[in-house]
Amino acid sequence: DTQLHVQVRVARLGTRFVLLLAEDRTESYRLDEVRRDFVANISHELKTPIGAIGLLAEAIESASDEPAEVKRFAKRLTIEADRLGRLTHEIIELSRLQAAEPLASAEKVDIDSVVAQAVDRNRVAAESHRISLVSGGDAGAEVYGDEQLLVTAVHNLIANAIQYSPDGFRVGIGVSNVDGVVEIAVTDQGVGIPESERDRVFERFFRVDNARSRHTGGTGLGLAIVKHAVQNHGGDVRVWSQQGSGSTFTIRLPEASKAPVPPAPAPSAG
Ligand code: ADP
Repeated sequence: DTQLHVQVRVARLGTRFVLLLAEDRTESYRLDEVRRDFVANISHELKTPIGAIGLLAEAIESASDEPAEVKRFAKRLTIEADRLGRLTHEIIELSRLQAAEPLASAEKVDIDSVVAQAVDRNRVAAESHRISLVSGGDAGAEVYGDEQLLVTAVHNLIANAIQYSPDGFRVGIGVSNVDGVVEIAVTDQGVGIPESERDRVFERFFRVDNARSRHTGGTGLGLAIVKHAVQNHGGDVRVWSQQGSGSTFTIRLPEASKAPVPPAPAPSAG
């Protein structure tokens, strides 16, 4: 029972005629799906050996009778295996999101709890950079969706705010609910994003070319995951930024009581 995907275009010819063009896109949808599954499957297969490499490298690093040089290389190996592990994890996550199916597990999710979980998951990273996470406000609201996906989205924004701030600075997390639109804003006083790059940061694998990005060991997938996760919930994400003085990323989601049915995801291209 294949689903048929038809793209319809409408053109007006003068004042009396309308031209309707219908294009059968079923095959290209199917190929997209095959490509996504393929990428997700390979990434899944890579997870186990990468995990093993990381563990073995750690074992060498902590073996007391190894020469210092060997330990130094083992440490680098651990760092790279860790990065590869994150990359495969994020590729799987993103290909799952891009399947653009209506949310499989749409349930009412408490937004204040989502934000609290995302903050908690960043505490260790924040402490190691002496960054204080300052939360304020509450939504007192629920949205339809997938709780873990929403936690991941907010987590990624906070993790970036920490990564792209100098040690010892603050990161603010503000939650509000205005007329049925739930807003989660993450603000930092970090390096900021040049205006020319601002629209591109949500693209897959895009990373601003600055000293900071080179040293964080990021994957360039974090914000693409945020964008797709939020769109799948019928919401959007925006960025405000000033180079050198900081950035604010804002997620907006429709409150469940104002959305009578679980929202269909926006089509996700790119
Ligand atoms: P990465 O894994 O590189 O952090 P992301 O998709 O999360 O990937 O972000 C893409 C790029 O956007 C980053 O490499 C960084 O250059 C820029 N960026 C993201 N968040 C911030 C922020 N809070 N402040 C400054 N730059 C940011």
